Amino acid sequence: MFSDELLNYGWEDTTRRIMSKRTADVEAALGKESLDIDDFMALVSPAASPYLEQMALLSRRYTRQRFGKVISMYIPMYITNSCTNSCVYCGFNRHNKFPRVILAPGQIEDECRAIRRMGPFENLLLVTGENPRAAGTDYLETALRVCRPYFNNLSMEVMPLPSDDYLRLTKSGLNGVVCFQETYNRTNYKKYHPAGMKSDFEWRVNGFDRMGQAGIHKIGMGVLIGLEDWRTDVTMMAIHLQYLRKHYWRTRYSVNFPRMRPSEGHFQPNVVMTDRELAQLTFAFRIFDHDVDISFSTRENAVFRNNIASLGATSMSAGSKTDPGGYHTYPQSLEQFAVSDERTPVQVEADLKKAGCEVVWKDWDKIFD
Ligand code: SF4
Repeated sequence: MFSDELLNYGWEDTTRRIMSKRTADVEAALGKESLDIDDFMALVSPAASPYLEQMALLSRRYTRQRFGKVISMYIPMYITNSCTNSCVYCGFNRHNKFPRVILAPGQIEDECRAIRRMGPFENLLLVTGENPRAAGTDYLETALRVCRPYFNNLSMEVMPLPSDDYLRLTKSGLNGVVCFQETYNRTNYKKYHPAGMKSDFEWRVNGFDRMGQAGIHKIGMGVLIGLEDWRTDVTMMAIHLQYLRKHYWRTRYSVNFPRMRPSEGHFQPNVVMTDRELAQLTFAFRIFDHDVDISFSTRENAVFRNNIASLGATSMSAGSKTDPGGYHTYPQSLEQFAVSDERTPVQVEADLKKAGCEVVWKDWDKIFD
């Protein structure tokens, strides 16, 4: 399990190694076709900042070689904000008082129809809070079955599950699972996740192994930028990605680097990542792993997304609502976070085409299941 592997990488030591990188390390990393984790550290270090232009060109070259100019489109559908956890940075934290919603199957179907009216989406990401009793695996299975006729590709971002449950859900049309470790800082993890199932660092970090064991087709991973030193967190994530590739080599992987947005909980980020740093991180990941999908949600603004689309990104959401029932049933309910890019899917498509990208709505067919 990855939690054992992670014991080989101390947080402070990793931070020290990153911050000790110099110009020569960056140039050596940029000269290689195949990078190791030390090279990745060099590319996310402050020493790489003057090399942004060179990194962008390399990132674009690898992205074009592997993915062409394609941006694959997806849309999230929040089906419940019921949650038994108390993540200090999240509006759905169980201590926040507001009406909780668990969409019924008929309401989920209404949401599917509303999304289909917005654009030709075929990739749907089902999102929930974490409430295993009220919205556990049975509920997720029902939701997948309701959505299946409307979309060719179904992923979900839900609580980490046992391996058998992942396997069971693949029989109901589940293709991909996204999970955010939030931070790999084991010591401070509990500070941000003081109670509930999510407070168990090991259960969460080893969830990726359980997905791999269940043969999930695509695994999405990410850390929440704003909690801990982002350079150390993304390096831990790169180590995790390498580990997963080695053990579950049939699986496809995607990464995502959400920057913290304002929420009901009024938690202020401990660390602020600039646009320039986010670009550096994106390029570093592409140069490190030529095959990984890099996804940008509507947390990022239109200008940034238009620019990064041709330099490393491969997947984007559009028209997103981050409240359950937000497309049709409860359009005014509480959002998990405020989106930055409020363009319609049609506008996003037009802007991506202007940036020279090829927008793809369907890249999977149910027949492959
Ligand atoms: S981040 Fe997820 S698990 Fe944590 S409080 Fe919000 S919805 Fe619940």
